[in-house]
Amino acid sequence: MRDHFNREINYLRLSVTDLCNLRCAYCMPAEGVVKRAHADILRVEEIGEIVRACAACGITKVRLTGGEPLVRRGIVDICRLAAATEGIREVCMTTNGVLLPEYAQKLRDAGLRRVNISLDSLNPETYRGVSRRDELSAAERGLEAALGAGFDAVKVNAVLMAGINDGEIAKLAALTRRGVDVRFIELMPVGERAAWNREHFLENSAVLKALPELIPAGAEGVATYYRLPSASGRVGLISPVSAHFCPDCNRIRVTSDGKLKPCLHAKAEINLRGLRGAALEETVRAAIGQKPERHALERGVSESGRNMNEIGG
Ligand code: SAM
Ligand code: SF4
Repeated sequence: MRDHFNREINYLRLSVTDLCNLRCAYCMPAEGVVKRAHADILRVEEIGEIVRACAACGITKVRLTGGEPLVRRGIVDICRLAAATEGIREVCMTTNGVLLPEYAQKLRDAGLRRVNISLDSLNPETYRGVSRRDELSAAERGLEAALGAGFDAVKVNAVLMAGINDGEIAKLAALTRRGVDVRFIELMPVGERAAWNREHFLENSAVLKALPELIPAGAEGVATYYRLPSASGRVGLISPVSAHFCPDCNRIRVTSDGKLKPCLHAKAEINLRGLRGAALEETVRAAIGQKPERHALERGVSESGRNMNEIGG
């Protein structure tokens, strides 16, 4: 359906857990998060109901995210359920990749079409410094498993951080020679880590400076694409801070505790738990109607009130 600003809203980012096997410095505190009671997290059947209601409101694409979606019990069933929902044309996932060696093929067989792997560094020490876990080799094996599983697309996402991984732009972009798109994401000042994020913020224009050989390759969704000469994959820039993409926003988010967020950086949350059938559908429709024209980052702050691991990125 179209929102009040004539944007076609067709994309749901669904967080299936706020737990994670990493502790990325820009996303959550070192000590992790307090585990919610089992009953506070959406059950698989509730997720199925929500996806069905969203599809009835015009959602055609679902991205499973988290926290880390692969630590959620039943993730393969969730994937299968979403993929089988009438009206849903595409189910994809954003993951840190650490558990993909075990799950890539199972997810593909359950109907997952595309996977985005978050990989901020190819240097073990930098990776450990950012994620606070020693899992680079598992994440790299996860990327290989994804490439071998027959997905329609495998992409790598790297959050650009001044003084941390900005020396690795060329090395990360070189993955495009293997056919994967590599997207650099600007660090957003969100949640408890907002101050750290601001300190390490770097505009995506740093990628263009580091790689003057990039050839423009158009825009798609929230990313602007380029190509390295002779690479089959693309280098993408996702610039939520330096370039506002709100006019092209096509998404809504649902948190793992069942709150619909019409905008990533706004405070508004609409409870979906306890609702079913027509009432659920009507609530989703009304929530899409509440999508603000622009996000609060334009005023320098996120008003979200949650950490990224709770929202799903
Ligand atoms: N755990 C999965 C992962 O890391 O891919 C999925 C959830 S994570 C919250 C989704 C995406 O949000 C990741 O690509 C991550 O790098 C990004 N992200 C988290 N915090 C961010 C921040 N403050 N600024 C920009 N991107 C962020
Ligand atoms: Fe976990 Fe993803 Fe957040 Fe990193 S960005 S701590 S992998 S949820």
